[in-house]
Amino acid sequence: MESNQSSGYIVHTWSGRSYRLPIDRDQFSSLLSYVDEMIALHGCDNTLQHAETWARAHKVAWFKLNRSLRSLGGFCDCEIGLNTVADGEEEPEDW
Ligand SMILES: [Zn+2]
Repeated sequence: MESNQSSGYIVHTWSGRSYRLPIDRDQFSSLLSYVDEMIALHGCDNTLQHAETWARAHKVAWFKLNRSLRSLGGFCDCEIGLNTVADGEEEPEDW
C-alpha cells in the first residue's frame, strides 16, 4: 500500500488539458526544480533520465510517473516544465 499519495497532483497543459500525476504538488515542484537544475548542468539528452533519477531518489514508482509525464507531452526532461502550466500562480488581481 502506498501512503502519502492519496490524491495526486493535477497539472494543466497549455492546451487546457489536465492530468493527474501520481505525486503530490510538493513532489512535482521538487521534480521540476531538480530536472531544471540537471538540464542547466548537463543539458537535455531527449530522455527522461533526470526525472527517473529523481523518482528513484524519492521512492516514486517510475513506471507510473513516466506514463503520466508522457501523456502530458513530457517526452524528455526539458518538456516537463515546458508543457505544464504552474497552478495558482496567475497574477493576483491588484485592487
Ligand atoms: Zn528535452
